[in-house]
Amino acid sequence: MWKRVNILMQRCKMQNIIDFIQALYGKKEFIALHEPRFIGNEKKYLNECIDSTFVSSVGKFVDTFERDFAKFVGCRYAIATVNGTSALHIALLLSGVKSGDEVLTQALSFVATANAISYTGAKPLFLDVDLDTLGLSPHAIKKFFETNCEILHGECINKTTKKVIRACVPMHTFGHPCKIDEIKTICELWHVEVLEDAAESLGSFYKEKHTGTFGRLGAFSFNGNKIITSGGGGVIVTDDEALAKRAKHLTTTAKIPHAYEYVHDELGYNYRMPNLNAALLVAQLEQLRGFLEDKRALASEYENFFSGLDDISFIKEPKGAKSNYWLHAIMFKNKAQRDAFLEFSNAKGVMTRPIWKLLNSLEMYKNTQSDALKNSKYLSARLVNIPSSVRIS
Ligand SMILES: *Cc1c(COP(=O)(O)O)cnc(C)c1O
Repeated sequence: MWKRVNILMQRCKMQNIIDFIQALYGKKEFIALHEPRFIGNEKKYLNECIDSTFVSSVGKFVDTFERDFAKFVGCRYAIATVNGTSALHIALLLSGVKSGDEVLTQALSFVATANAISYTGAKPLFLDVDLDTLGLSPHAIKKFFETNCEILHGECINKTTKKVIRACVPMHTFGHPCKIDEIKTICELWHVEVLEDAAESLGSFYKEKHTGTFGRLGAFSFNGNKIITSGGGGVIVTDDEALAKRAKHLTTTAKIPHAYEYVHDELGYNYRMPNLNAALLVAQLEQLRGFLEDKRALASEYENFFSGLDDISFIKEPKGAKSNYWLHAIMFKNKAQRDAFLEFSNAKGVMTRPIWKLLNSLEMYKNTQSDALKNSKYLSARLVNIPSSVRIS
């Protein structure tokens, strides 16, 4: 009897959330998790691009985008790529990561973070995240170094595997900045290079500095579901002129400029962003500030609403940080309630999605070394993303 009353109350609560989200978006039909908005110069620039016939690997939109993007995030150079995974891959190679090395990252991330590490021939090591940022935990890194590592000839050696830990890739989950300055300090002490997977955090700042610009190299994504999109695309950022030149060279088949000869001086990659995609992206970037404002407004409406519910909490930006609130997230008391809500909301046409399964639970990463992943496991069972699209049209 009490159980049935309880279930009825739960359903009533869940229906209230659905009603609230439908009111936010002003519709009863299907509401997506995150839709792109093309409400600026997208068509104009795409037409210009087509008329110019420069739709592929060279063209003014690639150059314009790289200049505008670098300016927005406050770094000297930006190198456009075909997607975020390839940007991360090249950033790792330029950080000196090579076959046989190991790279620290978080278990609670999208699979691309670990895949990019694996493409270099290195192996990821999965560490825990913080509950307040959802991103890689500086304490977890410190503990891992202190219990498992030693410095030999200026390199950080994992005593279990005898391999060099070459780099560390923190990720700013859903746009919420992790404690990147603390991570940098610890990693510098242990001779490990930090490069950020900032794929989700365009427009997010940690202590007034744009995420993705804390290390020598950073990577962003412009996939269809990201805060701005080029259909598919990515970018590498750096302040180092030599690294920027290397990044451009490696992403463009390592071809030596020549009027007609094919000369390639090393193993390069065809990772360049087509001008057509860059045309879309230049228009999207022009609207980013408006998108960011709209997302903050939506976040505060969600925050107000969920503060009235005692067993669900809305994930807010961490202290000292400004989040882009790319994907809004709520946390349930337990997995059963979370699963009931996923089922209920999706059946009602309001798209919701659980946070990722931990990367070491995936087949190809199941034997990967990790720490206890206490917070990661807790979050992985309880977090749900709710509709987050920009509402201006
Ligand atoms: C989107 C994303 C990427 C890169 O994705 P692409 O689809 O290759 O552009 C990398 N890491 C994280 C955490 C992401 O969310």
